[in-house]
Amino acid sequence: MSVLERMATLLPDTAGVNEKGHLTLGDCDVVKLAAEFGTPLYIFDEATLRRTCAEFRKEFGQRYADTLVIYAAKAFINRALACIFKEEGLGLDVVSGGELTIAKSADFPMDKVYFHGNNKLRDEIELAIGWGIGRIVVDNLYELSLVNEVARKSGVIQDILLRLTPGIDAHTHQYITTGIIDSKFGLPIATGQAEEAVAEAISASNLRLIGLHVHLGSLIFSIEPYQKAIEIVFQFAAEMKKKHNFTWHEFSPGGGFAVQYTQGTPAPNAAYYAKAIVDSIYSKSKELGLKLPRLIVEPGRAIVGRAGVAIYRAGAIKEIPGVRKYVAIDGGMADNIRPALYGSKYEALIANKADKSDSERVSIVGKFCESGDILVKDEDIPKVVPGDIIAIPVSGAYCLSMASNYNASLKPAIVMTRDGKTRLIRRRESYDDLMRCDVD
Ligand SMILES: *Cc1c(COP(=O)(O)O)cnc(C)c1O
Repeated sequence: MSVLERMATLLPDTAGVNEKGHLTLGDCDVVKLAAEFGTPLYIFDEATLRRTCAEFRKEFGQRYADTLVIYAAKAFINRALACIFKEEGLGLDVVSGGELTIAKSADFPMDKVYFHGNNKLRDEIELAIGWGIGRIVVDNLYELSLVNEVARKSGVIQDILLRLTPGIDAHTHQYITTGIIDSKFGLPIATGQAEEAVAEAISASNLRLIGLHVHLGSLIFSIEPYQKAIEIVFQFAAEMKKKHNFTWHEFSPGGGFAVQYTQGTPAPNAAYYAKAIVDSIYSKSKELGLKLPRLIVEPGRAIVGRAGVAIYRAGAIKEIPGVRKYVAIDGGMADNIRPALYGSKYEALIANKADKSDSERVSIVGKFCESGDILVKDEDIPKVVPGDIIAIPVSGAYCLSMASNYNASLKPAIVMTRDGKTRLIRRRESYDDLMRCDVD
């Protein structure tokens, strides 16, 4: 089996191998791109990106017409990507004034922007309300009164959702589970705080309570957590209807849809989640006599994950006989902290040897001063030498958005490929960039 066949479910849709045996993405030779733009380099395949957007819209929309898919910007956003999401008709979930500003600079329709986060600052709320943001998803009681106050001062009636904590364990890594009672996010239903928020929101002078929201965590491989959350939230909505005359217009089960990172861990597709979520919404609405709300879905990882490939150059190679062979690359935890942060697994291939078969087992490590800076552990790849171009698929989500300047490193350049053409969407940082905020 060729490398390409083996990795087909991890690489972008357009991945190929040319006559030189080089990996191609969007009909562009990855080895050439590495030479032209330098490494580390992140490549986004525009066709894959647009396909995942369309897939979420279609799979939810054909089962439930009143759906809005909003992309969770924290997975990664810049202006070029924001323009693509706008063109694809998606809304946007932002969690900071920074993400909001990127959206604004791309002329993103503000009525389709939702503002999330567990401690939105007054400045950020003012910015959002000033720009006419569509919804603020209120996380706690303190924020409820803060948003009301800012809205009152601005002379605005602000549409809000309440983020609830349903008390569900999505069985994912503890750092990316958010639906359990012991979480920093959301208003717990079980303690009565969620009900208190509903009552306060309804009586607040400058808020309009539009709906309810939950987000259970990330990389959720099964539908059960979503089904359970829908059951709990719909029950709560019915109770609030009875007690507080609350009617909803929107409901969001959040994001968290999984993607496949390694060959042994396949992930469900959008259709699988869409069917389960929509079926639950129909059946619970009917059972409880609730109005069918607009459905807001918030995929992040599942939109950008597979569209992105990280490209590095191999440098020092260290063999410890009988123990392990380390291949060091020119990037690592500063551009992708996920393995160090949550033990995430990746696989790799050699872009300039995409037609060769595997012949040795190596671990691919970064150049940063932490022993945990290991991107790929014990993977079989073709014989590797310094200068080889290492490609790590599924690097589109939560890599660049969490990138740092650790060791005063430079954040990578990003290019977008499509139909044999490449466009630089973010230049590599320079040493001057590192010092641009320093004051002598
Ligand atoms: C992070 C986040 C998402 C997206 O999560 P993914 O796992 O990337 O799909 C959606 N909604 C909220 C509120 C989030 O915090």
